Amino acid sequence: MNKLATLLLIALVFYTTNFGAESKKEKKPTLVEGELKISIEDEAIEATLNITYVVKDSARASTSFWMDSAMEIQSVDGDLVKSYSFDQEAKPFATLTIDFKEALSEGEEIAFSFAYSGKPSQGFWIEEYQWVDIDPDFMILPVFSTLESFDYRIKAVVDDVNYKLIDVQKGKLTQEVEVTSVTTSYYINPILASNNQKNGVGLYDYSADGKEVRVFSEYADSARYVGDAALRIFDFFNSTFAREEPVTFCSVLYRPIPYDEHKVTRSFKPSVVFAKPHENIATLAHEISHFWWNRGDALTTEKWLTESFAQYSEMMFIRHEQGEDKFNMIIEKLADRAEKLPPLLGGDRFGRYGDDLIYEKGPYILYQLENRLGYEKFVDFMVAVNREQVATTPHLLEVLENQTSAKIRKEFEELIKR
Ligand SMILES: [Zn+2]
Repeated sequence: MNKLATLLLIALVFYTTNFGAESKKEKKPTLVEGELKISIEDEAIEATLNITYVVKDSARASTSFWMDSAMEIQSVDGDLVKSYSFDQEAKPFATLTIDFKEALSEGEEIAFSFAYSGKPSQGFWIEEYQWVDIDPDFMILPVFSTLESFDYRIKAVVDDVNYKLIDVQKGKLTQEVEVTSVTTSYYINPILASNNQKNGVGLYDYSADGKEVRVFSEYADSARYVGDAALRIFDFFNSTFAREEPVTFCSVLYRPIPYDEHKVTRSFKPSVVFAKPHENIATLAHEISHFWWNRGDALTTEKWLTESFAQYSEMMFIRHEQGEDKFNMIIEKLADRAEKLPPLLGGDRFGRYGDDLIYEKGPYILYQLENRLGYEKFVDFMVAVNREQVATTPHLLEVLENQTSAKIRKEFEELIKR
């Protein structure tokens, strides 16, 4: 499985669980809680997870998880557990299947636990960077193969006193970290351990006018650059589309591993994991904008509600900082590409044009809307999209009509369908 496919699958888990329309109907999510021990010397982990499983379909006789194939399962326990198997060759990912003694009915809640350990196939960069990265994408922590949602509460400890855990949500260094997700999502921050004495990672704090940015970086100048940029990005977003829900704190992890080696940037409010060269503040703006833009079913091009809005927010920031000429150059390129693409919606999210549609055509359509409405009204529309927590295109069109007119809605619908 290549990394990109992994990412796509994971992105899909994240958005469907977090923001899919279905998740609203679910009363109580499954809870996965437990402990993860990180051993630096062995480059290995040990985990014990207790799962309070809420059955989603009726008559479910088993459940299964995707996990790193390098893991070894020590035990699976529970009153209703009949047996388990771990198929390390399974596609698309190694799969742990747990069979129950009887078929479970929908809504039933059962408890089981499992313990496992091993040297993860990714995530340990001890020699080169004195760095451990338990990234959700690496599946060192399991994901339901049915993509169903669950809450996480994982406590992590590291066995080497030279290593500190990075609590990226709170922006602090610590000896023990609890990573939680209460948004019925598997999507959590990576669990990170770093030998700061050796790799030089430090924590830098920048604040101005009641806003604060904490940056973890091995380079003081990168930290300052990223910190300053994040404060400017706050200012711009807080005075435009985020004015009703301003952000005053974020932490940015500027990872010491080159982006080439670990191609993941993440955003999970109020934190960003970032690894591109520090000058790349467009990407930083994009990631920070996801504090607001995180909607739409990721299985389909409805994900444009997340990515096209983030991309266009990034462009608005570039225009604000670097001027119209720079912005117009970006727009020209987008216009060229958008012309050659099929309609924004209804296509295959993971097909040939999936990414181009949501990262190029979608932002171009938003640009056209801004041109039609004028800047002020366009920003008002973005504010309304956030206020109404729009998660589908039909809802977006409704909000647009309320903000403008039936005529403009119709014109915009045509842009989407063209
Ligand atoms: Zn994005």
